Amino acid sequence: MSQPIIIVHGGATIFDETTHTDILKAVRRAAHVGLCVLEKGGSAVDAVESAIWQLEETELFTAGRGACENLDGEIEVDAILMDGQRLESGAVMAVKDIIHPISLARYVLERTPVMQVAGAGATRLYNEMVSFGYRKEDEPGRTSRGVHAVGCDTVGCVALDESGRLAAGASTSGWPGKLPGRVGDSPIIGAGVYANEIASASCTGKGEQILRVVMGREAVMYVEQGLSVEDACLRVMRSIREKTSGEAGLIMLDTAGSVGLAFDTPHMPVAIARNSDVVYVTMKPSMSEIPSA
Ligand code: ASP
Repeated sequence: MSQPIIIVHGGATIFDETTHTDILKAVRRAAHVGLCVLEKGGSAVDAVESAIWQLEETELFTAGRGACENLDGEIEVDAILMDGQRLESGAVMAVKDIIHPISLARYVLERTPVMQVAGAGATRLYNEMVSFGYRKEDEPGRTSRGVHAVGCDTVGCVALDESGRLAAGASTSGWPGKLPGRVGDSPIIGAGVYANEIASASCTGKGEQILRVVMGREAVMYVEQGLSVEDACLRVMRSIREKTSGEAGLIMLDTAGSVGLAFDTPHMPVAIARNSDVVYVTMKPSMSEIPSA
């Protein structure tokens, strides 16, 4: 039996100081909800979906209800959910006008034979999901009331359940004013997110840079090669800075419940929960401050 643990992040970016209190509350709540799922026997995939759903439900991040507009003033969102045990993921890309793409990603993972669905096909799947009652939609038919965001605050999560299974996920509307149809790293398996039976990673930051190094897979590969998740995070951040202009961050877990995180932006709000408690919540996480298990 493993000790369940969950980490959530609210994006590697810069947040106005006036928002910090609400953001910390939101990541704390998401980690708490995810941990409750894990401690009631839910799977890591259940916990990641629940935690990201909570973050999508706030208007604080450029994801879910806080999604920002693309160049045409429309909302297009991306999300992914990856099950490390099955080495399978479900992802949706450039889906218009939905609040909870993470649940649609779950639907793709569990109920379809494919791993990635984009655009109008994803919308059709969303309507099918809602009409089957798999997940409900509080605002059906929302059309493009996105926020005018300055930066991008993708949300992400990694979790380990009591059976030792890992999962990872991410949800975003991408960069404000993005090219319609643009898909960043977040919903791309291996780039924004990766999980297997060894480790899981959820990345955030400049998608075009993250894609170039396939950051999530690279981070997990370092753990397979013997690095701790902490060192794997540092190593992959070094790699993205050396090969691109960087501006990224990531959170990681391994099957022992060890935590890794790193970022090179002013903020990356993070909450970590284990042992029936949210043990660490901050805008600027530091490995040396995380309480030991
Ligand atoms: N990686 C996301 C994207 O490029 C943005 C972010 O993580 O904030 O779409």
